[in-house]
Amino acid sequence: MKKRVIASKGNYYTVYSMNTVVVGSGAAGFNAADRLYSFGQEDIALVTEGMNKGTSRNTGSDKQTYYKLTLSGNQLDSVQEVAESLFGGGSMDGDLALVEAAMSPWCFYHLVDIGVPFPHNRYGEYVGYQTDHDLRMRATSAGPLTSKIMAEKLEAEVRRKKIRIFDRQQVIGILTEQGRAVGLLALDLNSLEDKTQRYVIFNATNIVYAAGGPAGMYRSSVYPVSQTGATGIALEAGAAGKNVTESQYGLASIKFRWNLSGTYQQVLPRYVSINKDGGDEQEFLRGYFETPGQMLDAIFLKGYQWPFDPRKVLEHGSSLIDILVYNETVIKRRKVFLDYTKNPQWGSLPNGELDFSLLGEEAYSYLQKSGALWGKPVERLRKMNGPAIELYKEHKINLCEEYLEIAVCAQHNNGGLYGDLWWESNLKHLFPVGEVNGTHGVYRPGGSALNSGQVGSTRAAQYIARQYREAPMNEERILSVCGEQIADKIALGAAFLGNMSLEDNVWEIRREIGKRMSACGAHIRVPAQIKKALEETKEMLGCLSTKTKLSTPAQLPYAFQNYDLLLTQAVYLSAMLDYMEQGGKSRGSYLIYDPAGELPVPGLADMFQFKIDTGALLDKIQIAYFDREKKDCQFSWRKVIPVPQQENWFETIWDAYRAGGIIK
Ligand SMILES: Cc1cc2nc3c(=O)[nH]c(=O)nc-3n(C[C@H](O)[C@H](O)[C@H](O)COP(=O)(O)OP(=O)(O)OC[C@H]3O[C@@H](n4cnc5c(N)ncnc54)[C@H](O)[C@@H]3O)c2cc1C
Repeated sequence: MKKRVIASKGNYYTVYSMNTVVVGSGAAGFNAADRLYSFGQEDIALVTEGMNKGTSRNTGSDKQTYYKLTLSGNQLDSVQEVAESLFGGGSMDGDLALVEAAMSPWCFYHLVDIGVPFPHNRYGEYVGYQTDHDLRMRATSAGPLTSKIMAEKLEAEVRRKKIRIFDRQQVIGILTEQGRAVGLLALDLNSLEDKTQRYVIFNATNIVYAAGGPAGMYRSSVYPVSQTGATGIALEAGAAGKNVTESQYGLASIKFRWNLSGTYQQVLPRYVSINKDGGDEQEFLRGYFETPGQMLDAIFLKGYQWPFDPRKVLEHGSSLIDILVYNETVIKRRKVFLDYTKNPQWGSLPNGELDFSLLGEEAYSYLQKSGALWGKPVERLRKMNGPAIELYKEHKINLCEEYLEIAVCAQHNNGGLYGDLWWESNLKHLFPVGEVNGTHGVYRPGGSALNSGQVGSTRAAQYIARQYREAPMNEERILSVCGEQIADKIALGAAFLGNMSLEDNVWEIRREIGKRMSACGAHIRVPAQIKKALEETKEMLGCLSTKTKLSTPAQLPYAFQNYDLLLTQAVYLSAMLDYMEQGGKSRGSYLIYDPAGELPVPGLADMFQFKIDTGALLDKIQIAYFDREKKDCQFSWRKVIPVPQQENWFETIWDAYRAGGIIK
């Protein structure tokens, strides 16, 4: 790696040059750097806006899951079958599904090798369990914080290899030349006050882009606060989006962001809502179920049917609860809480004990086997999963005494940036890996996100180490070729900084972006509302540089993030409209208003009428392009690539392998 300070048009720029720069310090980014080094490419660096930021490092769930080929027992499994399971989620390319399946054991054992404590039995079998959208026992877990441990262990590898890390560098632009990525423009968060040092250029032959999901776009979110995302600047640079309509949403607590799945629901808490003054408490679920038993069963099932799924709405299914929570929070503007201190009144005896005889067979026998057919929800929770209470205590929430505020929250982006068989974008030499890459389809097995991140980053590293070994262009050349792109971004920064004011509004703008997305572009999608939201987004984007007010240069990074999020929002909302224009109906983790559709239950507004998708678009993929000049999007649709069925004759493959004919 080389560092030079170059003068250009009266400005001085610090330029770092190297073969490959990796963006992001999550599980995917660290793995990319680790693998590149191991595969022989040592001229690399990792750039991150914050070492300890991002989803991998700061999130978790009841039993955070990693998905892979079955590696224990006598249950038959195969690479092809895993690929079919991934592919079966719909709108997923089969060649990528096969790669994710084939490389899952390698990537998994790599994590085992570096110390991620996945459990095995006395015979060395890595035992598994069944996860959602799967029929086998392929899932495993290192506990509630699997992704955090992965990130920490991978970071240790990167440090052991002495790979250079540039911390506190926020990438604000991907520099391109004729359809290929050639570098990055970053904001040096350590030098925001110093205009000569504020911007840094990374001049690289390749960029591995592991910037995570576009979390900052949502107000109701279970992504960690420290994850914002940087999908917008990649779209702006010409990287295509894929399946960006597909994300996952579900119930989570919002003060401390945590999925409320598993035992948090199975102990049957009370769902209450209050008005904005804190009064008028109501057990609001009651009005929408026919019997208390039906309501209690739906709450129970929410435990293992966590993501919102429109197929589980009708007939008082568990996803009806997500709709009712949205109805309270977004439509009625009330706050919703889970109360573990009392039993739901509807379904309780006069003495406050729950009448367990009202429960259906599944819920009753589960609670019976768990020895929990008694007491209050918090007592059942202590009996069934004590650490679940402690976890909240660690975050200063006492479930024994207080209500837990909740919302339907964004959790994961199945879609994202397009990548080919080697995770290379249509923008050559840019490799989106991890959650920013949209490999997944409409439904995916739980745990496949973490596998995909490890496989994609390994795959990109393989390709770069083999095919893209050349040095980057010289420093003067990148400044000249990308001069206009750099100048545009610096001008945007100057415009933001030109609006210094005692009263800043960067967070107000962020709230508006989030409110709009959570209300219109999340699990409830009404076409007319999305159109209006898109107009607002475009308008905001158009005047962001003049409307943004900063009170200190320390807020400049947030202004650039707002720009990125608005770009992302414009593309994502446009993609939703395009999907609807293609005749797309409710599927995945969202409900689309359809005037000819069915209302989930009487008493709800017409906007919840919907029709379940018949699968007409499940064999197609939507590709999104952002036109930088027109600030507009175009979409195309193509058939999914089927799962390759090929005869793997050893001698033929070996021959091709020795001749260097595989990684190309
Ligand atoms: C509550 C919750 C539970 C989950 N449970 C599971 C599960 O059980 N199984 C599963 O498979 N998946 C799960 N996921 C999803 C999974 O955790 C994530 O998809 C995965 O951790 C993302 O890893 P990543 O490395 O791609 O991105 P991240 O870990 O988000 O890292 C992104 C990195 O990029 C950096 N970055 C972003 N923008 C910039 C920029 N402009 N400049 C420089 N750096 C930047 C960030 O600071 C961060 O370091 C869960 C997610 C959530 C929120």
